[in-house]
Amino acid sequence: MIHIHVLEGDWKMSKKNLDWANIGFSYMVADKRYVSNYKDGKWDDGTLTENSMITISEDAGVLHYAQECFEGLKAYETEDGRIVTFRPDLNAKRMVDSANRLEMPPFPEDRFIKAVEEVVAANKDWVPPYGSGATLYVRPVMFATGNVIGVKPADEYQFRIFVTPVGPYFKGGAKPIVVKISDFDRAAPHGTGNIKAGLNYAMSLHAIVTAHEEGFAENVYLDAESRTYIEETGGANIIFVTKDGGLVVPQSHTDSILPSITRRSIVYVAREILGMKVEERPVKLSEVPEFVEMGLCGTAAVISPVGKINDHGKEICFASGMDDMGPVMKKLYDTLTGIQMGTVPAPEGWIHEIK
Ligand SMILES: *Cc1c(COP(=O)(O)O)cnc(C)c1O
Repeated sequence: MIHIHVLEGDWKMSKKNLDWANIGFSYMVADKRYVSNYKDGKWDDGTLTENSMITISEDAGVLHYAQECFEGLKAYETEDGRIVTFRPDLNAKRMVDSANRLEMPPFPEDRFIKAVEEVVAANKDWVPPYGSGATLYVRPVMFATGNVIGVKPADEYQFRIFVTPVGPYFKGGAKPIVVKISDFDRAAPHGTGNIKAGLNYAMSLHAIVTAHEEGFAENVYLDAESRTYIEETGGANIIFVTKDGGLVVPQSHTDSILPSITRRSIVYVAREILGMKVEERPVKLSEVPEFVEMGLCGTAAVISPVGKINDHGKEICFASGMDDMGPVMKKLYDTLTGIQMGTVPAPEGWIHEIK
């Protein structure tokens, strides 16, 4: 168990009495959530509420035609006791893109950021203490509440943000995982793979359950068009390291990779802070054996190291091995998490303090 040093300051003394290092990744009902409803062509003022339940019509659009999109970000306590979020402007923007693609009314970006601020501030006691490894997961979600029977976009929606504390993603250090090349597809070419919609996850559940039954931690999806190029896993983008220490980031010619904020931040950190060579380009499965490290990146784990890929029984083993994160991933991970936790200077605009 991690020993938590109690810092001075009023609200810190009223933190929830949780075993922060061991809370895992599951939903806990925090005190407050933010809700705004869209009706008669406009979003209402929005409010904080204690009610974690939602009552909707049996005919609500979300239940039939899956008009839903979501976001995921985290709030952290920094070493000096501030509460911050990481690049929430990019989540706001991405949710607008998701909403537009699903014919939902976008929630304005400035209001999204204000709502994140409000809901995190209202749940300050749920922000895990610095050093515990735990964080406050922030989940914005938007869905059709209006009635639809014929296939068309609904005319009423709800935007909601709730929070839940989540434990350290890696207990006892980041152990490399084994992943498989999936025979299922995640996203159709020019479909919805580049937006953060629940519908992309519904059809990935069978694939992930199957992969777990076979003993793999994750699925690597190839491009659905040619099944030649690496795309991503069910919920994380992929990055590779070359023999000479460069970063290679798969790109999709069919627009079917989700634009991960973690991945975009890693690219910036690699290029601008660590002075690494970075290539963003389509990556063939056939060239993967030439790489020495592989990682999965997303908000939940930041970087999760991959030790091996199983391609239909044939193993691709990375030089970084099965014991530890490789040295380049480690450097990227330490730099990015340092920026997030306030121990490494952040690029302009990346850290958004909650007052
Ligand atoms: C959310 C998500 C990611 C990771 O994005 P981040 O912004 O880094 O959290 C990657 N792939 C998919 C499919 C996702 O839904």
